Amino acid sequence: MAKPAAAEKFDVIVIGAGPAGYVCAIRCAQLGLKTACIDDWRTPSGEPALGGTCLNVGCIPSKTLLEVSEKFAEIRDHGARFGVRATNLSFDLASMMAHKHKVVADLTRGIAGLFKANGITAVAGRGRLLSNRRVEVTSPEGRRSWEAEHVVLACGSVPMSIPAAPIDGRHIVDSSGALSFDQVPGRLGIVGAGVIGLELGSVWRRLGAEVVLFEAQDRFLSIADEAVSREALKQFSAQGLDIRIGARVLSTRVDKDAVVVTTEDAKGKREERVDRLIVAVGRRPNTHDFVAEDTGLLIEEWGMIHVDEHCRTNLPGVHAIGDAVRGPMLAHKGSEEGVMVAERIAGGQTRIDPDLIPSVIYTQPEIAWVGKSEAQLKAAGTGYRSGQFPFAANGRAQALGQTAGFVKILADEATDRVLGVHIIGPQASELIAGAVLAMSFGASSEDLALTIFAHPTLSEVMHEAALAVHGRAVHVARPKRTP
Ligand code: FAD
Ligand code: AMP
Repeated sequence: MAKPAAAEKFDVIVIGAGPAGYVCAIRCAQLGLKTACIDDWRTPSGEPALGGTCLNVGCIPSKTLLEVSEKFAEIRDHGARFGVRATNLSFDLASMMAHKHKVVADLTRGIAGLFKANGITAVAGRGRLLSNRRVEVTSPEGRRSWEAEHVVLACGSVPMSIPAAPIDGRHIVDSSGALSFDQVPGRLGIVGAGVIGLELGSVWRRLGAEVVLFEAQDRFLSIADEAVSREALKQFSAQGLDIRIGARVLSTRVDKDAVVVTTEDAKGKREERVDRLIVAVGRRPNTHDFVAEDTGLLIEEWGMIHVDEHCRTNLPGVHAIGDAVRGPMLAHKGSEEGVMVAERIAGGQTRIDPDLIPSVIYTQPEIAWVGKSEAQLKAAGTGYRSGQFPFAANGRAQALGQTAGFVKILADEATDRVLGVHIIGPQASELIAGAVLAMSFGASSEDLALTIFAHPTLSEVMHEAALAVHGRAVHVARPKRTP
């Protein structure tokens, strides 16, 4: 990576090259701003790598393992149903991990290529914000500082830990460790049945582990619409994920080559023995020792950097984006903030609508949603109509052999404007894009109902759900209007 001269001044210095920071840096450079991006990520072999959590130990490696484990489990569990016979079917975990490694390495190198092509100065080192938009960088070459007209803080997040289950990197691991097991644990415990816990649990369950998830909350997947989380619990339990709702992990101890987990639920305390334990209880902003105290940067609870709707901090010329600021910790949310900040620095007026950030859980079936849930509409006293349609009545889903789940559309009772779309089913992650697009144009459920969807596609379920909002779904025995 390049080493800028000590006196060099930049238009923009971005600290952090995750999906928030690297996208911001590229957009800044495209807009003609002289840009540097500082990042301290190193691969296990000590090489600098761009892409942050998302590319190195997050979205990309987890989706790669979800894809490959699904290919295997699909043939093992359902092959016979489709007439695919596989004798002595097996997998090679080391090859799966090698594939994951290659995907990650290709993508992180791709960002390095984009930086080069866009003339961005990439600096491998630890950045720290000083006063007056100066940035200090500590690297193996020593310590230097540079100045910029604008500084963008994109330091991301790190896994949260709990005293009840201290990470030892072998028996008790965080999400990064769980993406690199060198063998399939016989019995795997997971603290937290949130998005990451469910995705990682799915990977190892498909590869043969017995998986038990301990979830402190009394409601499963409380971030999703209730109808979706109910269906998800049914489907995941049927796959053999042992999900213990209302079970808080109180303590753990390593005993021989296993972990003894003490949990407490409504019935009292109990002990559980697992071979490995993943702690997936959420993430927190990575702002520890990131900013010199005399800058006066406002940092909120949990280390979150305070920003306004345009990602401006309380310091002039200093922005913050991605997991380090309010809002869902999602790669695409951070990237869009990165684009917005770059364009606003260059004089544009770009905005983000926080209500239109889609959420996805890449389990089987997948879960995706955008906008308001039914509970949120009720709590806000908003009148709404709901249309729901099952994948079971869809030809493409039948052909795929993936008929679980549904699409549910919530539309304003008075205006018919779509307020929320909730999907559990095959390819939900892809289908949700249509809903986000419709909602960003302020579509009504009737607009969607009048749209022509190709046949046979899964997207027809979205069409039928839109028709169902006004009791007009076609492939039902007796259309009914809800609520
Ligand atoms: P990060 O990706 O965390 O990047 C921050 C970068 O800044 C890192 O490289 C870090 O080393 C660097 N840095 C921090 N401090 C400094 C400093 N002082 N100096 C220099 N560099 C610094 N999101 C999705 O949208 N979809 C998914 O499918 C998904 N799956 C996930 C799966 C897992 C297992 C995990 C852990 C996360 C997943 N996420 C997913 C979340 C996603 O990874 C994050 O939301 C995203 O990476 C946040 O981007 P960011 O740029 O804000 O921060
Ligand atoms: P997410 O924020 O989606 O990654 O989910 C993390 C989950 O971990 C939340 O649903 C929390 O309720 C859960 N959690 C946090 N601490 C504990 C604990 N000690 N025992 C069990 N579950 C926990």
